[in-house]
Amino acid sequence: PLLPGSLIDGRPATLGVLGGGQLGRMFVHAAQALGYETVVLDPDAGSPAGRVSHHFIQADYRDENALRELAARCHAITTEFENVPAESLAALAATRPVSPAAECVAIAQDRIREKAHFASCATGSGVAPAPYAVIENEADLGQVPAVLLPGILKTARLGYDGKGQARVANRDELAAAWQRMGGVACVLEQMLPLAHECSVIVARGRDGQVVSLPVQRNLHRDGILAVTEVYEGNLPEIAVKQAQSATVAIANELNYVGVLCVEFFVLQNGSLVVNEMAPRPHNSGHYTVDACDASQFDLQVRTLAGLPLAAPRQHSAAIMLNLLGDLWFSADGQPRTPPWRDLLALPGAHLHLYGKTEARRGRKMGHLTFTGPDAGAVRQRALQAAALLG
Ligand code: ADP
Ligand code: MG
Repeated sequence: PLLPGSLIDGRPATLGVLGGGQLGRMFVHAAQALGYETVVLDPDAGSPAGRVSHHFIQADYRDENALRELAARCHAITTEFENVPAESLAALAATRPVSPAAECVAIAQDRIREKAHFASCATGSGVAPAPYAVIENEADLGQVPAVLLPGILKTARLGYDGKGQARVANRDELAAAWQRMGGVACVLEQMLPLAHECSVIVARGRDGQVVSLPVQRNLHRDGILAVTEVYEGNLPEIAVKQAQSATVAIANELNYVGVLCVEFFVLQNGSLVVNEMAPRPHNSGHYTVDACDASQFDLQVRTLAGLPLAAPRQHSAAIMLNLLGDLWFSADGQPRTPPWRDLLALPGAHLHLYGKTEARRGRKMGHLTFTGPDAGAVRQRALQAAALLG
C-alpha cells in the first residue's frame, strides 16, 4: 500500500488523475485530506481539478511526454474521465499501479462490449440488459427484430447525458437516425416502460474486497441527471437487493479495481434491468460526500492506494440537486447569481461549486445536497430549494 503521508525516495506519496473535471476535483480534495500530493492531467488550462491540485499537467490524454511526466511524478494513477484513451492507461500501467485497468475502462467505453459483459453476468445475477441488437452496417439494420421497436438507438461510443441517442418508432426512423449518426457502430435497445432509475456504486480493492454504497434513486431532466434521492424506502426493497448484488457480480467478473457505478432501470412490472456503467465515481454518488462516513472519492483514493475499505455507512438521509448553468440566467436570459444566501439558510444544505468560470446552459456547475434525519426532512428542504431556484 501507498501509505498516507509517507515519503518514497524522499518524495511525498503522490496520486495522479487523468481528467480535470469536477470528479477529479473531488478526488483531489479526498486525496489531499489524507495527506497525499496530487497531479492532474487535463487538456484544459482552467480545469476544475487542475486548479486545486498540487501539480497540473496541461496536455492531451495521448501526449506521450506528458504521460511519462505523470508517471514520473506519481506513485499510482486513476482516471475521472471514462473516455480517456485506454491505450494511455495501458502505457501508464507499464511503470505504475493504475486503477481501474485499461481493459475495464475500454469495456465501459463501448456499449457493445459493455452490454455483452452485462449479458454474461446475467446468468448469475438474474439482472439482464434491455433486449438489444448491435448495428454496425446496413445489413444489421435489416435484421433488427421487430420486438426492439419502438426503441432507442445509442452510439456505441462517446454518448453521455442523453447525447448520441435517438428514439425511433419504426424501421424508417431507425434507418434515418442511424444515417444522422454517421453510420457509426450503435446499439438499438427496446424502449422499456420505466418506473424508476437507480444506480449503485461499489469500490473493489486489489485484494478483491468489495464494499457497496446505498442504492441511489435518480431523476433525469432532458437526459441529464437532475436529482438523486437516497433514504430508506426510496425504491422497492427487492430492486435494491438485486441491484446491489448485480453490481458486485459485474465488478467481480471484471476483476475490477477502483470505484464503479452501475445504472439500472426498475420497470413498471417491478423487474430490474441493467443499463450502463461508469468506471469511476458518478454524479449520482456526490451525496456520499455529505451523507456517508466514506465518500465515493474517499473510496477511490483507498482503492488506488491499496488502503483498507471499511464498509461505508450512510448516516443521513440525502437529496442531491444538480446545479446546471441554466440557473446562472434569469427568465429573460440575463446573467444572475443563484440565491446562495437563501439556499444556505436552509438547514442541512451543502453547496458544492466546481470552480467553472463560465456558466452555460446544461453545464454542470455544482450540486446542492440536503442531509437530514429522514426522508420527510430532506424532501421538504429540497422542495424549498427548488422553489428558490425557480
Ligand atoms: P447516457 O450515457 O446518456 O446516460 P443512458 O443509456 O443512460 O445514456 O440513457 C439516458 C436515459 O435515457 C436514461 O437515463 C433513461 O432515462 C433513458 N433510457 C435509456 N435507455 C432506455 C430504454 N431502453 N428504455 C427506456 N428509457 C431508456
Ligand atoms: Mg446513463
